[in-house]
Amino acid sequence: MTAVPETVVPFDEALTRYEPVVGLEVHVELNTATKMFCGCATEFGAEPNTQVCPVCLGLPGALPVVNVAAVEAAVRIGLALNCQIAEWCRFARKNYFYPDMPKNFQTSQYDEPIAFEGWLDVEVPAADGEGTEIVRVEIERAHMEEDTGKSTHVGGSTGRIHGADYSVVDYNRAGIPLIEIVTKPITGTGERAPEVARAYVATLRDLLKALGVSDVKMEQGSVRCDANVSLMPIGAQVLGTRTETKNVNSLRSVERAVRYEMTRHAAVLDSGAAIHQETRHWHEDTGVTTSGRPKSDADDYRYFPEPDLVPVAPTREDVERLRATLPEQPADRRRRLQGDWGYSDLEMRDVLNAGATEVIEETVAAGASPAAARKWWTGDLARRANAQGVAVTDLGVTPADIAELHGLVTAGRLNDSMARQVLDGVVAGEGGPTQVADARGLELVADDGALQAAVDTVIAANPDVAEKIRGGKAQAAGALIGQVMKEMRGQADAARARELILATLGVDG
Ligand code: ADP
Ligand code: MG
Ligand code: ZN
Repeated sequence: MTAVPETVVPFDEALTRYEPVVGLEVHVELNTATKMFCGCATEFGAEPNTQVCPVCLGLPGALPVVNVAAVEAAVRIGLALNCQIAEWCRFARKNYFYPDMPKNFQTSQYDEPIAFEGWLDVEVPAADGEGTEIVRVEIERAHMEEDTGKSTHVGGSTGRIHGADYSVVDYNRAGIPLIEIVTKPITGTGERAPEVARAYVATLRDLLKALGVSDVKMEQGSVRCDANVSLMPIGAQVLGTRTETKNVNSLRSVERAVRYEMTRHAAVLDSGAAIHQETRHWHEDTGVTTSGRPKSDADDYRYFPEPDLVPVAPTREDVERLRATLPEQPADRRRRLQGDWGYSDLEMRDVLNAGATEVIEETVAAGASPAAARKWWTGDLARRANAQGVAVTDLGVTPADIAELHGLVTAGRLNDSMARQVLDGVVAGEGGPTQVADARGLELVADDGALQAAVDTVIAANPDVAEKIRGGKAQAAGALIGQVMKEMRGQADAARARELILATLGVDG
């Protein structure tokens, strides 16, 4: 099934008539060693159905037990999001049938979430283009639940169930602790709604990483985002009908999906039709959403309190003990790092957009200068990541590699173009920078003897150019430098080659 393009209104035009409202639901897989209600391992990538037991397979009579580490992580997440922590709350059964959920209900929380009424400040570029501005995103609740198993639909072309020949299911993921974090409707952001949505998920991801509660790997599904979008006529008081785009699993997709839905809703509303409350699927390749299933607020999951689990009642002492373990808020941390690194607002914005704060921090810790670390991660590496459609952190290049590579440049062993070739090798999995430079024979020829010989050859072969330079046209040396580099198979220092050319021809640089 290919995505059928729908009518959309240009983004800017949609904003002249409508005000967007966005609500984000983020599911975070915790990195606890064991599952939410049993002792099964949670490690990613094991053989299907090897990390299962009667509890997470939902066998009759099996009794769940709450994982304390998961509850503590939930409380820490709630506190970091400035939430109130429930003194007493219960799990609830959310009843529905799906093959990836062997109990036929999901153990979740319903009207008694562990954390509620919080906020997270996110930083976005200021409307006037100068510096940044803080948008406060209100958090409705953060609740505990368990993940489902994973279905794989085999045979069709899209990987979806429609058109598949058969499906298989892996229950290793069933019962992995999840925290679902739900925002209140985010209003008043106008044209910046898509970037606020992206900045929120990015900030939340950074915060979860700093808390150490999750791997926060969006591409492995340990952070998954559903984006709710609605439009209301400018000036209206009542929220419009929302659609919920499921599993938008990269920061860039969050921004694109919100933007796309805004333009699609505008076209539907312009035509006089109504938006149907439904889930939508995001198509990364074409950048559009398609209709999923109808979803009404009145969907009846027959929630009721889970009778097999005791209530969760963190004492105030527990809460304060956990509060004391919170890391610095992401926005404070970014301001501190910007100061330490001496980056301008614009430079820091590039770093944030590239999602490179952490890697730069690690690159600096590994010995590179902040300026060099920024240059690599937001320049060459960001370009490679964009071209491959992956995050800069998923290129297979580590901060230590970049520090080592930059060390080779400052030590005079590599010039910039050689460094890029070395990086090609590192990305291709040929090893670390020094190893690649050795294997590919990349090394600036430091010895002037070889370089002088190349300069002499090139001058002899280009008497006209040499004459011009002697006559005072030093710029003409550029043509000779290129040839000297060729003679030296790229392994020369271009600046030194220029000096030698000019000295040989008896002119001052
Ligand atoms: P669901 O059962 O659909 O998952 P949730 O309460 O978990 O419901 O999440 C709904 C999300 O949609 C919340 O983030 C909420 O703020 C947001 N939301 C609710 N109404 C609207 C609306 N009219 N437009 C945009 N977002 C909305
Ligand atoms: Mg929800
Ligand atoms: Zn189990």
